[in-house]
Amino acid sequence: MSRYYLTTAIDYVNSRPHLGTAYEKVTADVIARYKRLAGFDVHFLMGNDEHSQNVYKRAVEQGFHNNPVAYCDRMEEEFTSVWKALHCSYDDFIRTTQPRHKAAVQKMAQACYDAGDIYEGVYEGWYCVSCEAFKPEKDLVDGKCPLHPTLTPEWIREKNYFFRLSKYRDRLLKHFEANPGFLEPEMRRNEILRLLDAGLEDISMSRAGQSWGVPLPFEPDSVVYVWFDALINYATAVGYGTDEARLAQWWPADLHVIGKDITRFHTVVWPAMLWSAGLEAPRQVFGHGWLHYGGQRMSKSLGTSVDPAEAAAKFGPDAIRLYLTKEITYGSDGDFTWERFEERYNVDLANNFGNLVSRVVSMADKYRGGRLAPAGDGGRLAGIAAASLARYRAAMDTFALHDGVAAAYQIVDAANVFIADSAPWKLAKDPGNAARLDAVLFEAAEAVRVAAVLLRPVMPSSCDEILRRIGAPVTGAALRLDHAQWQSAGERATVQGPPMWPRSPIEPAAATWGFAGGTSTVKIEPKEKSVEEQAPVPSAAAAAPAVVAPAADARIGIEDFLKVELRVAKVREATAMPKSKKLLRLLVDVGEAEPRTILAGIAEGYQPEQLVGKTIVIVANLKPRPMMGTESNGMVLAASGPGQPPILVAADDSLPPGTRVG
Ligand SMILES: [Zn+2]
Repeated sequence: MSRYYLTTAIDYVNSRPHLGTAYEKVTADVIARYKRLAGFDVHFLMGNDEHSQNVYKRAVEQGFHNNPVAYCDRMEEEFTSVWKALHCSYDDFIRTTQPRHKAAVQKMAQACYDAGDIYEGVYEGWYCVSCEAFKPEKDLVDGKCPLHPTLTPEWIREKNYFFRLSKYRDRLLKHFEANPGFLEPEMRRNEILRLLDAGLEDISMSRAGQSWGVPLPFEPDSVVYVWFDALINYATAVGYGTDEARLAQWWPADLHVIGKDITRFHTVVWPAMLWSAGLEAPRQVFGHGWLHYGGQRMSKSLGTSVDPAEAAAKFGPDAIRLYLTKEITYGSDGDFTWERFEERYNVDLANNFGNLVSRVVSMADKYRGGRLAPAGDGGRLAGIAAASLARYRAAMDTFALHDGVAAAYQIVDAANVFIADSAPWKLAKDPGNAARLDAVLFEAAEAVRVAAVLLRPVMPSSCDEILRRIGAPVTGAALRLDHAQWQSAGERATVQGPPMWPRSPIEPAAATWGFAGGTSTVKIEPKEKSVEEQAPVPSAAAAAPAVVAPAADARIGIEDFLKVELRVAKVREATAMPKSKKLLRLLVDVGEAEPRTILAGIAEGYQPEQLVGKTIVIVANLKPRPMMGTESNGMVLAASGPGQPPILVAADDSLPPGTRVG
């Protein structure tokens, strides 16, 4: 199996990450997951950059002057909790204060020194504390750093060690020429080529009189300059300085995903350092654009910042991941607003993909008892899926992530059109159309399956759930791109579930999921059509000015939802209640010592004997309520349309009683 080693930039830990920082991690994660899908043995590295004077200052401000590493420990928790909330699947998380990194930095500094590429000198010039970079006079605007116009740069004169970058100019030019894909996208490459044409100056690689950092092996009173230190993390993580065999296996890195502002460090300074130390340059660097908020730079102090973990808790990580991947041309700058996000959520997820899944599974259940038999060759829909797969691969292989997602969505759109055209609800009325109905249902389900395989790198948990509902033979990490080929064989067992992405309040839900039984109400919005007949809102609607309700509304936070303890239960006994048309008495196993009695308002939908053995979902932490001379201990989940009998929310039979749902 070919290996693929990719990395993100490591972050300064002086503040919690915002959505702009998350943009890089999520898109790199999409690439990592795509490469795994494509069959590569992937090593995906993320991490934190801790040897920064800004980090040190922040640690001191927070009362950690005796132990800045303890501050960094706390920030590591903050960062990794955000990355986990966004389902970033990194294999390793490096911190530059780790012993393995100190060993690597000292080894590389010594190697460059031994190669004659490090020499002592005096640095005198302007230094921007916030950038942690020396600023040539010509780069200042009105005497200020253009990125930090409120700060006054410091004039610094100190003994420094310099790295002989100028020596590598010709080799860099040749490298760029021989490897046209070395830096993507192309506009970034042109910027660097202009810089190389203008010539390179040697750069400072140490700071004198500081203790926060890795001491120079040949001058322990100085530390390695934070930029020189940080770049080495990519080599550290695969064994440089600690495990040569591992390094040989994983180096050079296949891809560094970084922001467009640090391409010079990664494609000029870093290859030169590696060559000096006797290593190969990374194979490829991708410089992504910046994510803005409402057209402005994302910044906490300006109030133009979005907390990615909060957003993920509210809408699910996959909705955020889809927006970041689909709505921004990868490589260019992008924009985020809540209005735009909600609009795309409704169009792409609730109305389009989510609605498609609901319709297909619900029709499979209604017309074929959740069993879909293979029929036909897939026809036109199979052709569209094959073309989309080819477009998807070409796009993803060149990091046109937005286009890869668009290719997968072609299948979703085509399937929606296919269902509208074939009108299975009409076919179902005439038994003479049974074979045609079989084919339509199987093909629609197959289109959903192929789309879910292709979208899994972007929306991993949602696509796994969709694949489960559609009865896909293979799901999860075992999926490979080959599974996105159209299949015309193998019976599928579909599984009903609540809407994948409930619509935002502006549009009434087709059927509100509620609790049946007892005194709680099942709230149903009026509707004209059944779920399966509801066509998605055409994508063109997205072009119209968005009229979206503000996010502040009746929705609840995740903390409220988590108070509700939903559990899988198996029905052991069911009996009618003599004096009630609506209630049934259920004895359910919730994995506890004794089964529970629950009175459920589902008598209009089920005969008691139908229920025994069913795997359902209950609210397990409801206070006991006396009803009709019996105590009800919990509540079953069911849904019903207006004038329709209730249908229980089923859980997969393989789930043991008591399994938590949520
Ligand atoms: Zn600056």
